[in-house]
Amino acid sequence: MGYTKYSDGTETHNAEGHDKKFDHYEDNDAKYICTKCKHMWTVKNARKVGGGCFAAGTKIMLPTRELKNIEEIQLGEEILAYNIETESFENKVVNMIYFKRGYNEMADVELSNGNILTMTLGHPLLTAQGWKSLDLENSNFEHGVQGATLLSVGDMLIGYDKPVMVNNINIYPVDKDYIVYCLGVDGYHNFIANDIIVHNALYA
Ligand SMILES: [Zn+2]
Repeated sequence: MGYTKYSDGTETHNAEGHDKKFDHYEDNDAKYICTKCKHMWTVKNARKVGGGCFAAGTKIMLPTRELKNIEEIQLGEEILAYNIETESFENKVVNMIYFKRGYNEMADVELSNGNILTMTLGHPLLTAQGWKSLDLENSNFEHGVQGATLLSVGDMLIGYDKPVMVNNINIYPVDKDYIVYCLGVDGYHNFIANDIIVHNALYA
């Protein structure tokens, strides 16, 4: 069936046409699920893969400028990404999908465009002063973003069509089974979530 099990308990799943989603960590073990047959397996002592993430329902911008919920985005699908060098938008392929459990708290970042971005604290958002987040250690650890600075009320984020101000930040506890979602984007390592440019997963 395309599974291999090793003596240390590690499994692999290589069925043709089947894609894996990262699910969550238990201790140092990474859990994966097949998007097709729903088989779940474990990679022992995996290095922590990246991806602080967003709540279900976060709106991702597609090349058509239509919006799609993050949990419905498919591997291989094109979404809109931001070219920081040319300050323009380009279509890029989603090359990794994560969903993850085990976070203790989430943040609601309330924006002047009326949107609320519900995210893990380490998720970097793009501003004119570079990447900012609410947890600088995890911005580095989970996203590979070094030199991020602390996100604060009043910061101006780079939005899809105009700058967007952070009006308020609420941090609150969540259940350990709360699921968050993240994407890896080929090339530019960012995407547009609720009209804001956000960093992608670490190993994309
Ligand atoms: Zn499968």
